[in-house]
Amino acid sequence: MRPVTAILLGTALLASPVTALAARPALAVSADFPGGSVHVDELDQEARAIRVQPADHPGRGWRCWWYFKVTGIEPGETLTVSVSGGGFALPDRAAFSLDGVAWKHTSPGRREKGKVTYAVRVDAREAYVAWGPPYLPLHARDLIARAVKACPRAKAFDLCRTREDRPTPALRIEPDDAQAERPILLWVQARQHAWESGSSWVCEGLVRWLCSDDARANALRRRCRIVAVPIMDIDNVVRGAGGKNQNPQDHNRDWSDQPHWRAVAAAQRMLREMNDAARLTLFIDLHNPGPGPRDQEVFFYTCPLAGLSEGRRTLLDAFLAAAKAEMAAPLGFRGQTRESGPGYDRNWERISKNWVADHLDGPVIAVTMETGWNTPHSTQANYQEVGRRLGLAVERHLGRPAGAGTAAP
Ligand SMILES: [Zn+2]
Repeated sequence: MRPVTAILLGTALLASPVTALAARPALAVSADFPGGSVHVDELDQEARAIRVQPADHPGRGWRCWWYFKVTGIEPGETLTVSVSGGGFALPDRAAFSLDGVAWKHTSPGRREKGKVTYAVRVDAREAYVAWGPPYLPLHARDLIARAVKACPRAKAFDLCRTREDRPTPALRIEPDDAQAERPILLWVQARQHAWESGSSWVCEGLVRWLCSDDARANALRRRCRIVAVPIMDIDNVVRGAGGKNQNPQDHNRDWSDQPHWRAVAAAQRMLREMNDAARLTLFIDLHNPGPGPRDQEVFFYTCPLAGLSEGRRTLLDAFLAAAKAEMAAPLGFRGQTRESGPGYDRNWERISKNWVADHLDGPVIAVTMETGWNTPHSTQANYQEVGRRLGLAVERHLGRPAGAGTAAP
């Protein structure tokens, strides 16, 4: 710490800067709220600098999520926030918010090895700073409450109680009876990996659109039974842990005959039951990918293509073509896909979409959708727009007779 005498000597002739310094409020960092999590290395009150890293949550997955509140800010001052960690913990731009509701990006941080330093100008006495815009159980509950209000056939339900006894908010929308003796099943879930908050915002945008009075959303609701789960790993989202590769296993490597996580077991039960009554099942698992340059937009992981029947391959190709047509921007889908098979992960069969493809009968499209997070476009609004456009892609795919997905595979 700089000795106080040095400041006194250096400023003695100026008009009472010492009192101004003394009156400056002390910065404080807290994270004792849902989703909040941080390890503070240093608070430098003189330099107005905050040095942190993601908190360690042993056994709860990657150490990459951080979200905290700063108080004691002098309105108008610029804070220096340095975050240390691995690549997944270090976005080019941090997210910040004055109210914890609306989030903006900082300008790009200064990157050093294992560290990024952000300048955050704040026009308030307190602010929130995070890896990305947080998406918490309260957001999921609000979304579902709005959907139930907007759609007469929408119902809120709890997918399960988690192992830590929390509810897992979910939404179910039934099709119009007259049209849908064997409806199409659209299952959308996000956040098997707790740090990937952007994927829940994509889900939010999709559900908002689904329940809107847009004619194409209406058309989709007439024919589809829809289930949406905005947060699968509630416990780690509330804790503020990364979740990825947690113990005893990753949520998205848990899709076995004996799942450990209750959300997985409940989803498997419902998917089996609903698939029996469906003439097509479309399963979409939402994620955020890596930080690097090849993961900047939207892409899909597919099941190993060699294992797909001709019918399912045709359905998949038609769906991807519809997605390419509808999802040009923001964070566009250019047709890029990757396979998650044995070469991708030795537990590839326990990845949700692979389990779905293997365990559900008939016409099935099962994909993982990744939305880039480390870009200037990766905002609350744009994530939701990606979700809306995903809805349009589903509608386009189901609405076109060629590849409409009603033929047996
Ligand atoms: Zn993921």
